[in-house]
Amino acid sequence: MKVFKFGGASLETIERIQQVGKIIEANASGKLLVVISAMGKTTNELEKVAQNYFMRKREIAAQLLFNVEQQHKDIAAALLGTKEHPLFTQLQQFFTEAEWTLGEKPHRNYDYYYDQLVGLGELLSTAIVSAYFNQVGIQNTWVDVRDVFRTDDNFRDANINWEITELQVNQKVLPLFNTANIVIAQGFIGSTDQNESVTLGREGSDFSAAVFANLLNAESQTIWKDVTGLKNADPKLFPNTVDIPEIAYSEVIEMAYYGAQVIHPKTIKPLQNKQIPLYVKCFLDMHLPGTVIRQDVDGRKLPPIIVLKKNQVLISITSRDFSFITEDKISEIYEIFHDKKIKINLTQNAAITFSCSIDHNPEKIELLIKALHTGYRINYDEGLELLTVRHYQNGLIDELTKNRKVLLEQRSASTIQMVLK
Ligand code: ASP
Ligand code: MG
Repeated sequence: MKVFKFGGASLETIERIQQVGKIIEANASGKLLVVISAMGKTTNELEKVAQNYFMRKREIAAQLLFNVEQQHKDIAAALLGTKEHPLFTQLQQFFTEAEWTLGEKPHRNYDYYYDQLVGLGELLSTAIVSAYFNQVGIQNTWVDVRDVFRTDDNFRDANINWEITELQVNQKVLPLFNTANIVIAQGFIGSTDQNESVTLGREGSDFSAAVFANLLNAESQTIWKDVTGLKNADPKLFPNTVDIPEIAYSEVIEMAYYGAQVIHPKTIKPLQNKQIPLYVKCFLDMHLPGTVIRQDVDGRKLPPIIVLKKNQVLISITSRDFSFITEDKISEIYEIFHDKKIKINLTQNAAITFSCSIDHNPEKIELLIKALHTGYRINYDEGLELLTVRHYQNGLIDELTKNRKVLLEQRSASTIQMVLK
């Protein structure tokens, strides 16, 4: 059993969907669980539907949803060469459900409605791709992963209940392989025990594929992307990047955690735990070698790995009465971050000040100030970047920080991190 994951870029056009078909066909001699995400930028469009709905701009929301409907029906018709196909009834059903949600007055929080609406993109893409593949002779079945991935109700960042999910993979997914070698499932979504839809966090399909790989004891997972493999930096941000043919899980989990956009940070653990290699390959040319991520890779051969996380805010929290920031204070501060679901990217302590870099989110900063202001004075600086360089060389750091102000810096033998203005 292998697990493949195809992202939005590989499903953006009819030609690309056909190309995905060729890749699957070339690998269809063994069992294949295929995870796919929403087509192109559908998720962004559905986010706008959710936002407008929640701001009581229901007509705009309905119009935006209608645009998504038209795009998907057009692609489906072009792929199948007809509109007389049971797929269209299925698509209609999905849209009718979304319209019901829009017809309701919002009485729960935004994250809940976001998840009821935004996961639609994955349902549409899987239904369309599955129908098209069957029509061109790539025999497959399609599964609604909401019947399989059980999660808690932490909407927009739901956590997998591994025990129940494993049970459901065994009961509902494995038997599907008795009739076809290929099973297609949505990434990014799941469901609570109350049958509410959830999402697993933006770009979460990589992680969905890893959950399947872990529970199916897959021999490998492959993420098909529009790049030739993993590079030592984002080529959109840095010149002269190089491809990395092989790299350890431990390196990639650090890169992803600090903001490298290549792989969702949660993807590595389920694979590492079962020693399943992860391949990153290019869907534009399936014969290119790509990158393999696995356990034991000699890190000494690696080039410097550069990761830039933009849109950071550096917060400093200073005790008003000059109490030291000791363990009790730190745990009090962390408790508040945890409670407000604010992820800390980098920290530093001084005698009476705790500083940290977080992703910019004005509402969360507001909450933080409210919760802390009686005991602490809070200052913050916005519009910053968090630069992480592993296997750094000093010349490179000078170059990367030229004409920049370093507001905070941490250095170990292998890694340097800086908050830059
Ligand atoms: N479609 C979702 C997103 O764009 C999930 C994914 O692509 O992995 O965030
Ligand atoms: Mg996507």
